[in-house]
Amino acid sequence: MLKALKTILEIQEIDMKMIQLMRLKRERQKDIENINKVKDELRSQADQKDTEITELKLLTKHMEGELAETKEKIKKLEVHQSSIKKVEEFNALSQEMSQADRERIAKESRLNDQYDKLATEEDALKLIKESLKTTIQNSKALETEIIESIQRINEEGKLLKTERDSLVKKADPEVFRIYDRLLSNKKDRVVVPIENRCCSGCHIMLTAQDENLVRKGERLVFCEHCSRIHYWHEVEAVEGAAVATKPRRRRATAASA
Ligand SMILES: [Zn+2]
Repeated sequence: MLKALKTILEIQEIDMKMIQLMRLKRERQKDIENINKVKDELRSQADQKDTEITELKLLTKHMEGELAETKEKIKKLEVHQSSIKKVEEFNALSQEMSQADRERIAKESRLNDQYDKLATEEDALKLIKESLKTTIQNSKALETEIIESIQRINEEGKLLKTERDSLVKKADPEVFRIYDRLLSNKKDRVVVPIENRCCSGCHIMLTAQDENLVRKGERLVFCEHCSRIHYWHEVEAVEGAAVATKPRRRRATAASA
């Protein structure tokens, strides 16, 4: 394998862990967002109910006032009637009184409906508030757990970054530049071995010529289908450890130059 690729492969392993960590962090942040969404939704429901109840109360007060007026009117008519002597006038007043009484009954019935409505809404508000309280209590442990796990992810990320930075210093700058650009495009492994004469990145069959070129390890060879960099799976590269078990030093000088 091209010697410059060994360091790049180590960097790539760190980058894969990093990508995985960032994915995990995003998921955990989403979890927090979802919990907050549920709470916000309940809060806005409670606010809305609160407004509805205030409006209902205002209307109820207005209706109570109107009912009181009708009752007052009936009372006045009763007083007036008691002083009337003429039969026609008495009858006319009786008619007016029964009309007012029908009004009173209708108003009382509407007001009772209004009281029922108000009670229903107040019950609903109470339920929403209880649900919000339970949600806050129940999610507390989960939120703490999520926040702690995000902190752990950040710490792990920091360690990986330090490790990566020191490897980048050791890496061939030109090869690293190419690798970094490919990585930011693909967000996936971009230095891949050839397996069964296939690119293990895009799984497209390669020619024997391609394979030979990679096997020689004299220069960077790119997959013509997916642009990934190919390398030959050598024994010492399998474990990812840079322990050379076979003497391959003759190529080292050429690659590090
Ligand atoms: Zn490919």
